[in-house]
Amino acid sequence: MHSSTKKYLDLLRSAGYHTSTCHFCGAQTASVSDEVFCTCCESRVNLGIASPYPDISASLSKLSGDALNGNTKGLDAFLESRKQGELPPQIMYGIGNLYMHASSYRYSMRNYSGQGFMEDNSVGIYESLALTSKSREFFFKALDAFGKDATGGSGALYLRFMINMRLKRFFYAGKILENVDPIDENNAIWRYSKMIYAVITRSKNAGAQVASVLNTGEPNTFYYLSVHLMHKKRFEDAEALLSELFYKTGMPSAKYLLGSIKELQDRTDT
Ligand SMILES: [Zn+2]
Repeated sequence: MHSSTKKYLDLLRSAGYHTSTCHFCGAQTASVSDEVFCTCCESRVNLGIASPYPDISASLSKLSGDALNGNTKGLDAFLESRKQGELPPQIMYGIGNLYMHASSYRYSMRNYSGQGFMEDNSVGIYESLALTSKSREFFFKALDAFGKDATGGSGALYLRFMINMRLKRFFYAGKILENVDPIDENNAIWRYSKMIYAVITRSKNAGAQVASVLNTGEPNTFYYLSVHLMHKKRFEDAEALLSELFYKTGMPSAKYLLGSIKELQDRTDT
């Protein structure tokens, strides 16, 4: 293991996280302080204040656990019971993330070990694709709603950035970063956004960008460090970080990235 990875692994091991419910996706999020990036949906949440949508947040907190384990029946029924036009865009973004993780869960349940039938695998893949399109539907709806609201400030702009990243519309995400007010450029939200953009688009300065935010102790920054290490083919380092991150925070993305790395290595081994 690289010595810098060892340093970050120690930092992660010694981090004291507490757990709260995200206002926008209802999942449990690990945090270092009141202002966090949710470890499930990456919304910027102020946990020190009550949810702006208490009823919806309470319902989602009951449904998110099942959804993250691939069972979205409760979430589907909840959405059918409401007019979707009434849902605030932040909530639609949160729900899009629940479907996205449910899709990853169904996909991870495929059985390639030879014990299952191929039909079981195709059902899992079909379900996973259906959940992905549902998540995209919610991301587009949220984007549409934000587009009509020019008064949302940097919180709304950040979510538009994140939605474009989720939809892999990197051109639009990059445009949002280019137009950030220079006064705001060094605040936590935009430093975090620039880091994500650099890592996911494999920019030359990705390593430096990740290093610059790791001192915040935000759990998600360790996830992006792992993605960066994976791009550099440092799979063992990425695996060690992701295992610890999942153990400490239960972050869904950490679990699925760990699974992808293992699958990649199994394929290279055989
Ligand atoms: Zn959340």
